[in-house]
Amino acid sequence: MSPPAPQEGTHVLVVEDDDVIGRHLDAGLRGHGYHSTWCRDGISALAEARAGSHDVVLLDLGLPDTDGIDIARTLRAEFPDLLIVILTARSNEIDVIAGLDAGADDYLVKPFTLTVLLARLRAHLRRRPSGPPAQERAIRLGDLTVDTTARRCLVGTHEIALRPKEFELLAVLARHAGAAVSRETLMARVWDENWFGPTKTLDVTLASLRRRLHQAAADAPFALNLPEITTLRGHGYRLDPAEAGPAPRPGPGR
Ligand code: CA
Repeated sequence: MSPPAPQEGTHVLVVEDDDVIGRHLDAGLRGHGYHSTWCRDGISALAEARAGSHDVVLLDLGLPDTDGIDIARTLRAEFPDLLIVILTARSNEIDVIAGLDAGADDYLVKPFTLTVLLARLRAHLRRRPSGPPAQERAIRLGDLTVDTTARRCLVGTHEIALRPKEFELLAVLARHAGAAVSRETLMARVWDENWFGPTKTLDVTLASLRRRLHQAAADAPFALNLPEITTLRGHGYRLDPAEAGPAPRPGPGR
């Protein structure tokens, strides 16, 4: 089996206030196998970096609320393994030096092409010992394992087949296990950053995911200890970690 492309399962946080550039980067990354989240200012970028688990940050320096250099410094201090690439219109070498000194790994001066950006990312990711950080590879919650790198979901030792959106939804909830995740966040992460339409697709996908997990638990030869997805009315969902000890088998009358 050939090794996966370096970008498989890589999460990129795009920090860019320019709509045209941001949209272009976000769509371009998704089109090339990356997961992408796009923030338009420094404060929301820091919140997103702390809430999610990202491998790469593409960071514009001229942001509406904070200087990108400060964001780079904060991110480097909090996330030593994060790959930080500065995107800057400033060709002034003082800014580039300040960015690298603040902890960035690389920089690209605008305008740059998507092709060059992707090649630089691949080069950086290839040099990493194991691609995405180890803690990202498999999330274990009781008898549920969500392996975001291999895109596998195991209930006990049995792999269950999930549709792509079901898997992504489960992965986001699993990364935030025990914490409430809003409908807006789920729509943005799993469907589209700029989703403004109805969110019924979220409930349909979640119901289907729940059914598959319950069915897998019911089919298992032993009682399993699985996390439960709790509905938070008017807010979103929360994946509650499995309780200690095996859960009772669900009865046939569910
Ligand atoms: Ca800017």
